[in-house]
Parts: sequence; C-alpha cells; structure tokens
Amino acid sequence: ASLSPPKMVKAIRVHELGGHEVLKWDDVEIGEPKDGEVRVRNKAVGVNFIDVYFRKGVYKAPSLPFTPGMEAVGVVTAVGPGLTGRKVGDLVAYAGQPMGSYAEEQILPADKVVPVPASVDPVIGAAILLKGMTAHFLVRRCFKVEPGHTVLVHAAAGGVGSLLCQWANALGATVIGLVSNKEKAAQAKEDGCHHVIIYSEEDFVVRVNEVTSGNGVDVVYDSVGKDTFEGSLACLKLRGYMVSFGQASGTPDPVPLSALAAKSLFLTRPTLFQYVVTRDELLEAAGEVFTNVASGVLKVRLNHTYPLSEAAKAHADLESRKTSGSIVLIP
Ligand code: NDP
Repeated sequence: ASLSPPKMVKAIRVHELGGHEVLKWDDVEIGEPKDGEVRVRNKAVGVNFIDVYFRKGVYKAPSLPFTPGMEAVGVVTAVGPGLTGRKVGDLVAYAGQPMGSYAEEQILPADKVVPVPASVDPVIGAAILLKGMTAHFLVRRCFKVEPGHTVLVHAAAGGVGSLLCQWANALGATVIGLVSNKEKAAQAKEDGCHHVIIYSEEDFVVRVNEVTSGNGVDVVYDSVGKDTFEGSLACLKLRGYMVSFGQASGTPDPVPLSALAAKSLFLTRPTLFQYVVTRDELLEAAGEVFTNVASGVLKVRLNHTYPLSEAAKAHADLESRKTSGSIVLIP
C-alpha cells in the first residue's frame, strides 16, 4: 500500500463511443504502481488506426470512460514493490495492451515495456515501435517474404505501409504499393515500391495483373478491408497468401470457402498482439525494429506531430486519409 496521495494527470478520455469529437482532455487520477508494474511519464505517444477502432466501438474497450492509445515512449517515474530490472529514470517504450497511452503518465505491467536504445530519439521510438513490430511479424513470421516474391501492400504510404514496403524491399521482394494520391505515390516509391498504383484513379486488379504479366502476387497485405478484400483475392497467384490485417474502410464481408478454393488460396487475419505474446517474442520484435532503424534499413516517416490535447485533430486527419507515415502526440 502507498501512503502518497493520488496524483492527477492530464489524459484524453472517451466517455461515449463516436467520432473524433468524443476525445476529451480530462484530469484523471493515477495511483502508485503495484507488484510487477511501473509508472511511466510519456514523452511521445504513437497514434495507430486501432485507436480509431476502439473510439468508434469497432473493437470493444473493457469499460467507459477509457483512455485510448497503445504506444508510447517515456521515462519510468516509479516502480512497484520488489520489482527488479527496471528503475526510475529508465527510458522505455511500449506497444500493445493494456490501453491508456494518451496520457501524461500511465501505469504499465513491467513485462510489457522494452528498453529504448540510446541511439533512438523518444519521438522516433513512438513513431515506429508498434508499426515496425507489425511490419516485422507480417514479413518475417506471418508470411515469410523471400527474394523473388512479389508483394502487394495496401495503404503503402501509411504508417505501417511505409515500413512494410521498406522491409519487403530489403528482403529482396518486388513490391507493388497501393495509394490514394500522387503525393503518397511519390513517398511509396521512395520507400522501395517498384510499382505504385493509385487505386482511387485506376482499377488496381487490372493494373496488378498487367504489372505481374498475368501471374498475380505471392502475398497481399490488406489493411483497408471492406473496399478492397475481393480485389485483393483477385490479385493473388495460385496458392497465394491473403493477409487481412486491418479494416480502415470497414470490416470485410464474410468470406465463403469457395472464394479460396478457386486458387487454393491461404487466408489469415493476424493481430500483432498474438505474435508478441512472450517476453522473448516482444524483445526480439522490438530489437529487430530498433536495429533496422539504427542501421538505416528502416527510415521513419514522421510527417505529423500534434500536442496530446489535440488528439481529436490527429484522429480526424488520420480517418480522412490526409496523413501519411506516422503520427505522434506530444504530452
Ligand atoms: P495508416 O497511416 O496506414 O492510415 C490508414 C490509411 O488507410 C489511410 O492513410 C489511407 O491511405 C488508407 N485507407 C483506405 N481506405 C480508407 C478509409 N476508408 N478510411 C481511412 N483510411 C483509408 O494507419 P496505421 O499505419 O496506423 O494502420 C494501417 C492499418 O494497419 C490499419 O488498418 C490498422 O488497423 C492495421 N494494423 C493492424 C495491426 C494488426 O496487428 N493486425 C497492427 C497495426 C496496424 P490511402 O489514402 O493511401 O488510401
């Protein structure tokens, strides 16, 4: 038990589900860390599309009100009783559950935080950890990208998309990126796409067919969902892999098995959190991301920073497809 009085911090909270305007700048009480926990003062908070799903109720938050956010870099300000391996002053990052990073300070399970190498700026860390670990499991574990593969990446100029294209390119694949406008097309090219298709102007299925000389692609990484799912299946070669890992345009309709039978396709709907279950998995994924940033294999596109109090504006811009690369909130 702690004798110190409860501490008040500023945080964004959702009292009712809805549009970006439901994100409120509140005062919340924060206690002392218990067994196995640390308290962290956030220096930079990563914004991810999953935060929008929770705000709208596409994914269900445990209770209302709640503080959204699944990614931050900060400094440890208190450690739970008897905790070893973490100390006050450590710079740490976290990406995943539990939610609550849209806050000046938060309590976290110590086994969910990872050390941040001195070479990584905290703001860059918050721009890359969750999105980078997503790109990591997608190209290294979910479907293993190898030289000679042709890879189709949706939302190729987005936060995850930018890293996915860079990583797939570095692994020796031919990368085809889909984007909604010319500016995003230029970024996707810089990020290693061999071909970029502007899917708001061209039929991407027809163009992928042309680009691959009728062969189709080995794998599709589809984060757009409802609007693109069927087209993605049509882009695959025989025995290709459909990796449906998000639903920025809405949840895809149910898929009849016959849709896969036509080409003996594989379908998976993976989630990062099931790929970083153990401490070893988390450290390995974070380590690979930070190493690739330090060596220059991954360049971080941080195009948008906002004060934490303006999280609603960040969500509005993300949802209206105005952003590219990563978005970070500064407490
Ligand atoms: P992004 O920065 O990629 O933003 C989303 C992008 O999706 C937009 O910029 C836009 O790009 C595209 N898009 C297409 N249709 C729509 C639409 N109707 N509304 C809004 N955007 C649309 O976000 P993140 O990098 O944070 O996440 C990318 C995706 O990856 C999300 O779907 C997210 O849920 C998923 N994800 C999944 C994870 C998992 O574990 N399964 C983990 C992390 C992310 P354009 O304008 O070029 O079309």
